[in-house]
Amino acid sequence: MTNENLNQHAQDILSRLDDQKKKAISAQEVAEELEKFLDYGVPVKQAKQTLLKKFGVNTSVPPGSVERTLLADLQPNTRNVKLVAQVVSINPKEIMVKGQPRTIFSGLLRDESGTLPFTAWDKPAMNEGDIVEIANAYTREWRGKVQLNFGNQVMIEQKEKDALPKETFEPKKVTINEITPLVGTVEMSAKVLSVEEKEIMVDEDKKTMFTGILGDSTGKIPFTAWEDFKLSKESTVHIKGGYVKSFRGMPQVNLDENAEVKKQKKQIKESDIPTRSLHLFELNNKQGMYDVSVSGRVIEIQQGSGIILRCPECNQVLREDGCRVHGKVDGIPDLRIKCVVDDGTGSVKTIMNKDQAERVIGKTMDECKQMNPEELHSLLNESLFARVVSMKGNSLQDFYGSTFLADTIEVVDEDVKSKVDHVRSLLEELE
Ligand SMILES: [Zn+2]
Repeated sequence: MTNENLNQHAQDILSRLDDQKKKAISAQEVAEELEKFLDYGVPVKQAKQTLLKKFGVNTSVPPGSVERTLLADLQPNTRNVKLVAQVVSINPKEIMVKGQPRTIFSGLLRDESGTLPFTAWDKPAMNEGDIVEIANAYTREWRGKVQLNFGNQVMIEQKEKDALPKETFEPKKVTINEITPLVGTVEMSAKVLSVEEKEIMVDEDKKTMFTGILGDSTGKIPFTAWEDFKLSKESTVHIKGGYVKSFRGMPQVNLDENAEVKKQKKQIKESDIPTRSLHLFELNNKQGMYDVSVSGRVIEIQQGSGIILRCPECNQVLREDGCRVHGKVDGIPDLRIKCVVDDGTGSVKTIMNKDQAERVIGKTMDECKQMNPEELHSLLNESLFARVVSMKGNSLQDFYGSTFLADTIEVVDEDVKSKVDHVRSLLEELE
């Protein structure tokens, strides 16, 4: 672009600023800023939009317009949305609609302005990694955030990689505790704490994948590698271009053919890798997390605790009329305790499995089977209600809130009687 053109665009931008801003910046400075974007390969129209936004000018596109909108500029309740973005991830998801299971698709898009999750009612004609133009999408608002939806009017067109500026594909430098499900592609250093090779079927082809755990001085995170990066336990690696995907709100690092993985000399010591200890409100804010420790008081033992029957086919808990999928079956008995733990800052549901439950109540499942349900229920209450437990494990999050899946759970509070009275009186106050 010639200097003359550049100045023209700079004047254009300047003319849209308010008087105060106009005084604060010269055409020369605007031109220099603009040039930086152009050097990065950002198309001039977008570079101008981005600068206008930076200078506080509202550039969002009015509803009904067919101009492309940047993900960061999307407003809730807009129809006719047009985007150009890369598909970071796309996954089927089973939901219940009017009591019937239905498969929808959800995933993450990114452009030069950031990332945004989407939901599609039918499988959209796009795959992970594709650059696409999406027209006729619409947005809603959910819990204060913009939700992008593809209805049956959506149109998807494949684009070349140069449809998006280069900066879109620059990975973000992160430590593990900075990783959220929306971070997109990342650059990071981490130690391989474990790695396991697995063979799976993808569209009738056998594929080898590697799964394991990465750690750094801020925490741990699961990973999946779709290529053989020769990852070995104990080695420290530098990853550039891995992308983050989430499973029930828990972020995971995915390494595909676009990722660069190199062994690095500077080792991360295993003793420097912590299990993050969190307050429960942090757990609720942060979405799913791998390997964290929490503690709190059991304030409720929920229905569905005690002896339950599971489907021999799919392991789901049976309802009165059998399995939701397999109908009438001979159930296999199991023992579990569902409870709510609260630390004063927030609360979390947790489900104890048979081994954990047996240890906490000091009886085996067979002994529990001999008891009548009321007897068993009071035993659960005596053993757990109002007591402080300390747990280590993973937190998952979905539509219904967070659930803590404990690997270990300890009752750390032995002074039961007075605490029971204390919690009872607290609960009465709440009512
Ligand atoms: Zn079943």
